[in-house]
Amino acid sequence: MILFFGTKKGKENSNKMPNVVCGHCAQKGTVTLYSQETLAHVFWLPITKIGTNHYAECSHCKRVYYKNDFSADMLKVINQK
Ligand SMILES: [Zn+2]
Repeated sequence: MILFFGTKKGKENSNKMPNVVCGHCAQKGTVTLYSQETLAHVFWLPITKIGTNHYAECSHCKRVYYKNDFSADMLKVINQK
């Protein structure tokens, strides 16, 4: 029997972070946090959520932040969820 197993992307959420200052252009409230779930599936049926990727983008300077670059304020927003 062949077992089809893999991962796929779940839904993406975005959250504005009004109190976060962009570390690149120093604008406040321009950074939006995006969260995308990764789901494990067997035979294309989602079984479990195996993780969530977070990244953030500044709408002013278009700087993208990945989790390693997040400021303490950004991490606070994630941990509140
Ligand atoms: Zn910026």
